Amino acid sequence: MEKESKKQGSIFEGFSKRLNMNEAIEMTKQSLQAYGETHQHWGIAWSGGKDSSATLTLIIWMIETGMIQGPKKLTVFYADTRMELPPLSIAAYQIIEDLKERGIEVNIVMAPMDKRFMVYMLGRGVPPPNNNTLRWCTRQIKIDPMQDALAQSLSTSDYDGNILMITGVRQGESAIRDQRIIMSCGKDGAECGQGWYQEVLPNAKGIRGRVATLAPLLHWRVCHIWAWLKNWAPQVQFGDWPTAAIADAYGGDEAEELSARTGCVGCPLAQEDKALDTILAMEQWNYLTPLKRLRSIYRELREPHNRLRKPGTDRNKDGSLETNPQRMGPLTLEARQWALKEILNIQEEVNEEALFQNRRSISIINEQEEVRIRDLIEAKTWPNKWRGDEPRADEAMDLIMAEGIVQPLLV
Ligand code: SF4
Repeated sequence: MEKESKKQGSIFEGFSKRLNMNEAIEMTKQSLQAYGETHQHWGIAWSGGKDSSATLTLIIWMIETGMIQGPKKLTVFYADTRMELPPLSIAAYQIIEDLKERGIEVNIVMAPMDKRFMVYMLGRGVPPPNNNTLRWCTRQIKIDPMQDALAQSLSTSDYDGNILMITGVRQGESAIRDQRIIMSCGKDGAECGQGWYQEVLPNAKGIRGRVATLAPLLHWRVCHIWAWLKNWAPQVQFGDWPTAAIADAYGGDEAEELSARTGCVGCPLAQEDKALDTILAMEQWNYLTPLKRLRSIYRELREPHNRLRKPGTDRNKDGSLETNPQRMGPLTLEARQWALKEILNIQEEVNEEALFQNRRSISIINEQEEVRIRDLIEAKTWPNKWRGDEPRADEAMDLIMAEGIVQPLLV
């Protein structure tokens, strides 16, 4: 993999001026000719965000017009987290229709039921992710499902056991000059999880050594992305793609200045709901306003009165006291029921307004997910190492230090 990245960088060696759109496309073409044509099977990792959507539609256009030689087999892997911003997921499903009409195979990749964001949180009781110790979401709803889908595909005879995975990772010109590929998650306008595809996928268990990755838009600047999505791709000669809606979801004509990144609706890790605020400012998406309440629900769920706490007396198998013996843990059953009701209310409010305004309805928690959440709550399901009989985290209790020293509660 490292070899691939270095090779790809060499195409751009000596590069020092600002690229125009035609030059950017030409370099993409060269990278695909140099590395793509040596692989018989290509996959495109597509999140529905701006970079991977530009990558997807550009490559299909290049193949269709004969600019590059297509592979023997091409599969588009669409990562549906069930948490995408509605305008993006609506646009993604329109593109999927177009891809299918063109005879292109689309694999819709989704986490298994019990691992999905809402089911894991409200059914199993794991608190909403945060920036510190509990960031379970990116891997669970984005990376692992993609890894599993790839492993599954590679196990079939169709792929002869290996694949070139094309990602929308983009670092702009300076990164190319420095031959530097930063694999952060959500940095500088990149989508959450984007870099991970390039960094984690090729080395994942079960597929290691069988996946090469290529980021053919690595050198594109964000203005190239907007130009492609808004002005080029929608034209018949470039594929007639419904990609303008994607650019609009990032803020339409102001998208470049806003330099928004997207991720899950109400992402608890983002400082502010910039992407959601941007779309709510548009008349056609204003009916989604109740989604703004999701973040306060997540915040409320993290409060001690909605969670359990270890009493401080639990021991490891070897008899030693657990580290952090009085840590806060899962959501109480009551808190989960409350949040489920609140989130279903939000969904209902949005969909009633959608019906009234003749707009698209949304699905935050679908029927099967709701049934599964209720079943898990009913069965009193707790995360590993929790029994459910621990005290509520806002209850006063003696303070137990890691060394087992007890500081009694002062009354
Ligand atoms: S966008 Fe936020 S909630 Fe969604 S996977 Fe990324 S960090 Fe987690």
